[in-house]
Amino acid sequence: MTALPDDFAEERAAATERERGTWRERLRARYPTWTSGLVRGFEVGDGWREVAEDFCRSLDDRLGGEATCPDFRLTQVKQKFGLIRIYFENANSKSLPVVEQVIRCAEDRSRTACEVCREPGSLIERRRYLRVACPAHEHVSFSL
Ligand SMILES: [Zn+2]
Repeated sequence: MTALPDDFAEERAAATERERGTWRERLRARYPTWTSGLVRGFEVGDGWREVAEDFCRSLDDRLGGEATCPDFRLTQVKQKFGLIRIYFENANSKSLPVVEQVIRCAEDRSRTACEVCREPGSLIERRRYLRVACPAHEHVSFSL
């Protein structure tokens, strides 16, 4: 039997390389099934590390672990319109309300934490681009 070609092999490899040795790699190792759909990995800054870690832990606690929801997949964890955005697939009628609630909680936390350093921050617009930053990082260009 031949394995199906992975259309995202290059992106997966790039993400694996980028995340090597970081909290992102460790977080994916802790939840290998749920994060297996994260083709581009955790696409958020270090300031949101706790937001991402607590999100996964809450999901784990409230859903009863990966074995209880083996089909559930995170598909994207990234910043969009300034806040953390978490996309997923294969939630069922039982897990969906929990997942949505835990995601809302993560979004709310990201609203007040600088994505660079996690110090208190606020949503700012700079050159028509929204992000959450503390005063120290308000004018600092930021990319992963
Ligand atoms: Zn900051």
